[in-house]
Amino acid sequence: MTVTDTIYALSSGAGRSGVAVIRISGPAAASLLAGFIGELPAPRDFALRSIRDPSSGEALDKAIVVWLPAPRSFTGEDCAELHLHGSPAVVSAVLAALGSFHGVRPAEAGEFSRRAFLNGKMDLVEVEGLADLLEARTANQRRQAFRQMSGLASDIFEHWRRQLLLIRADIEAVVDFVDEPGVAEEAAAGIDGRISALLAEISSAVEASAVAEVVRDGVQVVLSGRPNTGKSSLLNTMARRDAAIVSDVPGTTRDSIEVLLDIDGVPVVLTDTAGLRSRASDEVEEEGIRRTLLRMSEADIVVWVWSPDVEGSACPIEQAPDIVVRNKCDLNPGLFRNELPNAGLSISTRTGEGIPVFIDHLSGLLKRRYGTVESSLLVSARQVSAARSSIRLLNNAFKTPSGHLELKAEEIRLASEEIGRLTGKICVEEWLGAIFSRFCIGK
Ligand code: GDP
Repeated sequence: MTVTDTIYALSSGAGRSGVAVIRISGPAAASLLAGFIGELPAPRDFALRSIRDPSSGEALDKAIVVWLPAPRSFTGEDCAELHLHGSPAVVSAVLAALGSFHGVRPAEAGEFSRRAFLNGKMDLVEVEGLADLLEARTANQRRQAFRQMSGLASDIFEHWRRQLLLIRADIEAVVDFVDEPGVAEEAAAGIDGRISALLAEISSAVEASAVAEVVRDGVQVVLSGRPNTGKSSLLNTMARRDAAIVSDVPGTTRDSIEVLLDIDGVPVVLTDTAGLRSRASDEVEEEGIRRTLLRMSEADIVVWVWSPDVEGSACPIEQAPDIVVRNKCDLNPGLFRNELPNAGLSISTRTGEGIPVFIDHLSGLLKRRYGTVESSLLVSARQVSAARSSIRLLNNAFKTPSGHLELKAEEIRLASEEIGRLTGKICVEEWLGAIFSRFCIGK
């Protein structure tokens, strides 16, 4: 790839901070750095230097600088980094000075990573892993993203692709002898065995991917129940802040309210929904109830909250909820209007009684269902779709009769292309925009 533009950006967060890192990448990186500091330090050394405005000579800061000549840099190009004091005035003076040079421009979102990909520093799976790592909020998200970013998943995809290339080469080696009796059948039998082994491996990766996607996007846990049973109070207790409106007028939670929680490393999107009543008081509430039923049907885990002071607290949906909690255990039994035979866990959001037991119970369920993430290889919809296409093509190859070895070889070639798309060995321009636009400027 030939790049003429040199790009720069503030790679650390904006605003006041201890240190602010400005990154420069491209052919002019060395001369730009020299313009600020004079003589360049040895490559990859951290050097403390005075930073001067290249045109006026005014001292702007005293800071650490690093010179990273190509190809041993993040982008694979000549790069320089200025680790300035994190003052908005210092940062804007350096950025303004950089912007005054011809052929030097601010980087677009994800442009450093895009250059790294185009220069072969990272493949697409690693780039996606990096994007996920930057967004990771819980330990499981971090682990999953790190596995992708560090190339462990890519190694396996590359192994699949090589297997397919070898199978195809073996088919082509026997195509010339198909006229000899028995040769094609014998060769095809061995080849089919290898195809079906690979099919099993890719299919089990696709099956495990459902868990990976949940870890990435968060497990959807929905709190549902009749109005006034304490769903909003439970969400607030769990979020430890006032995210939902708590009131004693039935039906105040008109829409769904979400908070993202980290429950023992598992990301959870906890949703408080409009209370389910058989008769809504107005159209807005009716719409709220419709959305609740939809949320419940789409949820990964449904928690049914009921309380003995609210009548008709039994869960009205056919599918049994994953967890039942009986709230308001602090209430005087004289106020009880009903009891459910399957009471569930007793809690009180008012006194906090039973809340740790409820969270432990939820955490156990999350771990049982979503704790197998270590084995997930395919973590994004893009990766799963490429793997699914390769499975379809391999199935076609498997079913192709041994008399048509050329057709078998062609299906295998297409399947290996699909696997190649996973890591970007076979580059798909349309995916690039979608992947790199997830990054912020400076990455
Ligand atoms: P929602 O409609 O299910 O979301 O219920 P809210 O969280 O708005 O609570 C309804 C009413 O029940 C409010 O007045 C709360 O203060 C009260 N409430 C919630 N949890 C408890 C509890 O554990 N004990 C008692 N005594 N009252 C509670």
